Amino acid sequence: MTNSTSSKFDDHDVNDDELLAACDDVPLKKPDPIVPIVEVASFEFPFEPYQIQTDFMRGLYSTIQQRKHGIFESPTGTGKSLSLICGSLRWLFDEIQSWKDEYEELLKPIETKNETSSGDWLKRLMKRKEEETAREKRREELKVKIDLEDQYANAAKNTLTANIKKTKRDFDAKYRHLFNSELPSKSDGDDPSLSKDQFKIDNDDELSDEELIIKDNDCKILFDDMDSPTKTDSTGLREKKVHVQKIFFCTRTHSQISQFIGEIQKTKYVDQLRLVALGSRQNLCINESVLKLKSLTLINEKCLDLQKQKKEKKTTKGKRQKTACGCLFLQHDRVECLSNDILKGSSDVQDIEDVVKLGRELNTCPYYATRAAIAAAHLVVLPYQTLMHKSTREACGIEMRDNVVIIDEAHNLPDAICAMHSSEINGNQLIDSYGQLSRYHEKYKARLTAKNLLAIKQLLDVQINLIKTLCSQENLPAVYDTEKWSNLVVSSNKTETSSTFDLIDYLSDAGVYVNLFQLIDYIKTNEIIKKLHGFMSKYPVNKNQQSEEKKTNESALQKLLQKQTQKQSQSNVVDEEQLSKESTEKRISNSFAIFATFLEALTNPRDDGKIILIIKETLGQCSIKYFALKTSSFFHEMVNEARSVIVAGGTMRPINEFIDHLFLACGQPEEKLFQLSCNHIVPTDNVLAIALPLGPQNIEFEFTAVNRSNTAMMDELGRVLVSLCSTIPDGLVVFFCSYDHLQKTYAYFEKTFVLNKIVSKKKIFMEPKRSSDVDTILTNYTKSIKNGAGGILFSIVGGKMSEGINFSDELARCVCVVGMPYPNIGSAEMIEKMRYLDSMRLKSTTAGETAGRAYYENTCWKAINQSIGRAIRHRGDYACLLLIDKRYSKANIPSKLPHWLANSFHQMNNFTETSNAIQQFFVRRSNKPTSS
Ligand code: SF4
Repeated sequence: MTNSTSSKFDDHDVNDDELLAACDDVPLKKPDPIVPIVEVASFEFPFEPYQIQTDFMRGLYSTIQQRKHGIFESPTGTGKSLSLICGSLRWLFDEIQSWKDEYEELLKPIETKNETSSGDWLKRLMKRKEEETAREKRREELKVKIDLEDQYANAAKNTLTANIKKTKRDFDAKYRHLFNSELPSKSDGDDPSLSKDQFKIDNDDELSDEELIIKDNDCKILFDDMDSPTKTDSTGLREKKVHVQKIFFCTRTHSQISQFIGEIQKTKYVDQLRLVALGSRQNLCINESVLKLKSLTLINEKCLDLQKQKKEKKTTKGKRQKTACGCLFLQHDRVECLSNDILKGSSDVQDIEDVVKLGRELNTCPYYATRAAIAAAHLVVLPYQTLMHKSTREACGIEMRDNVVIIDEAHNLPDAICAMHSSEINGNQLIDSYGQLSRYHEKYKARLTAKNLLAIKQLLDVQINLIKTLCSQENLPAVYDTEKWSNLVVSSNKTETSSTFDLIDYLSDAGVYVNLFQLIDYIKTNEIIKKLHGFMSKYPVNKNQQSEEKKTNESALQKLLQKQTQKQSQSNVVDEEQLSKESTEKRISNSFAIFATFLEALTNPRDDGKIILIIKETLGQCSIKYFALKTSSFFHEMVNEARSVIVAGGTMRPINEFIDHLFLACGQPEEKLFQLSCNHIVPTDNVLAIALPLGPQNIEFEFTAVNRSNTAMMDELGRVLVSLCSTIPDGLVVFFCSYDHLQKTYAYFEKTFVLNKIVSKKKIFMEPKRSSDVDTILTNYTKSIKNGAGGILFSIVGGKMSEGINFSDELARCVCVVGMPYPNIGSAEMIEKMRYLDSMRLKSTTAGETAGRAYYENTCWKAINQSIGRAIRHRGDYACLLLIDKRYSKANIPSKLPHWLANSFHQMNNFTETSNAIQQFFVRRSNKPTSS
């Protein structure tokens, strides 16, 4: 066990020359900087490509062709997405064409050579026979692939999109005629628009006790099996389909998926491409009764549950007929038809929103239509989570064998993979989930079978044992009481402390000896999450409910009087009730599902992660975290199965981290790796990057954790910012290392009237705490700049404005980073990560370098590079980048910056020099015409 007393990931920094020196980016042992020549007539790039774009596409094409893996870096604004699309799709369609060419070739008879000697005719005959057999075999293989391509291409043409424009009546009639499949209709088929009432499903809170009680072998089908399109069920949706050669493209967010699809629409490939974008049921479900459950787990469970129900409905002739599925949006013919629409390949390539819209028009499930489309699709676009998580991947029927995987925005991929596989549960969630299960047990114990009672008892034991690892056993009140347990004081220390454990040691110390795999299987098989949710909705425990119970005992007269008084204050009551209901619902929905997810994380292999106990003042505030450490464990299968895995991003430095953690650690040989780092298309003189070690009064900047409250330094920073507001035109974005640092500095500037000076030059904006406010702030910031009032936007490195936001042109003529955003070296996670990396034998580390220290350093630089990458978004863009801290003046700093920036980087000795350089930069720019 290890202990640490520092807070979680608060930004910290280290003033350590040795550390910086030790962590220089180390080149790959056998660099392969030469972009291979590939025989491609045209990549069909929609514009005349720049040389770096051609290099990128050639590099990508040959990497896939040679079945290698690749790491591609190309700065934002250099057309990276289009280069990825054109390079990979050119390869895909060339590959398909090569099958046809080879097949044609193999149909020709073998040329006979003019053999004169007759001695070894038997040998020649045997050889020829062998050759013919091999040709025959290859011909058959190719025929299967070609036929499959043709079959799916023809199916994709067989769409009914045109009919959507007609009335629903005509459309439905056409469907009936084509498929002889009856559509659900409002009343005896008179009204073709579907009645919403027909699609109403039972709410969980309407479930009877009988439905809530777990039976033996209540449900034999597990989530994943139910969801898998490779199984066959009564709907026929899960018939095994053969997959064509394909490319999986994944990126981080749904908005990035939309942008990517927008780029595809600019290319000629769109006409022949079969594309599908995947999303979760939360994004794609159109059954309002299911969607209202809000939590993804419950939506998934409800949908799967519906598929097990066979519903009876009246036909037009008054007879009762069983439908294929409890959800009437899920009918095989219609789903297949919608999947053809999705795949049809034209300028109508479907984004997730388009698919949902189409699904609603057709009253057909978009979620299953997209899954039905995977097998035939050339290109599957999907979010990170779906591809990286094995069970999700399998549930979607994604087959990676021999296919190409492209992961864009991969700059944080190793950490993102670990974060996806980590899991945390806090004291309140544990207490809640224990309370729910205890109440369920208490209510139904007389009606549950011995087997179910045993399983529930085991789950309760695990829950209570985990709770007891957060507090001392003697202090925990013997009788369950949510409030008392949650508020139990477990530490007199106001700051949190953490302890780290080996997974098996932790479980053993906690007294958890049961088979966790079986318990997880039990939870899934018997739908415990759904049953508990239904139970808690039917029998809620909250103050409102208690008062309701009291009310029912009051006399009718009292009720009448009460109603009259209530009327007057109804609006307030509704609001309060609504808020209370929402928070109770959230609590009910989530706690057991979170417990189940956490339990699953505990089944990971011992060496893949650690357990971290985070102790705070009360039991409810404490938490238990499973911290996944070993990226390769979760990436191994993908990299070994796929034909090529391509990771790409705007700033991929240090590339060695990807090589070590993603590829070499997964057993891939160095010879199988290709890396390409492209320059920017922006001319060097469009960027001015400066390290600023001191301000106008020569006060040095060193924003270490202990220094940040230094008032002399804050005053000096204020002077710099006021000066910049006079020099920099339009927008200025200033990144601080943490919210705390920004808030303190802002408050100080307010007190010392620095803000007054700033506001006289530029309007002030602050990064909001809530994500939902980001759009409003950005819109107002943009408006202010467009109106000529300018703007200064205070933001956080690694915050909401530092990724995925495009501050092009006048939105950011200058980006400043104040201080260095080192992660908290004392946090339990960082200690464990560094220790784990130190224990690995990384090939790229050099003498004197420790992998853990390099990781620590790189985490800081990745965050800086992401922030400064917000500016300079296209060839004609220009901006000044200011790194404010004396630690940026070290000699090795250029090696930490993106390649393209290193040549524009200057270390200045004083503020006057800096200020003059900035002024001259903008004077030069104002004399140049801007091109985009
Ligand atoms: S089948 Fe489709 S529409 Fe119906 S509940 Fe499931 S996801 Fe929603």
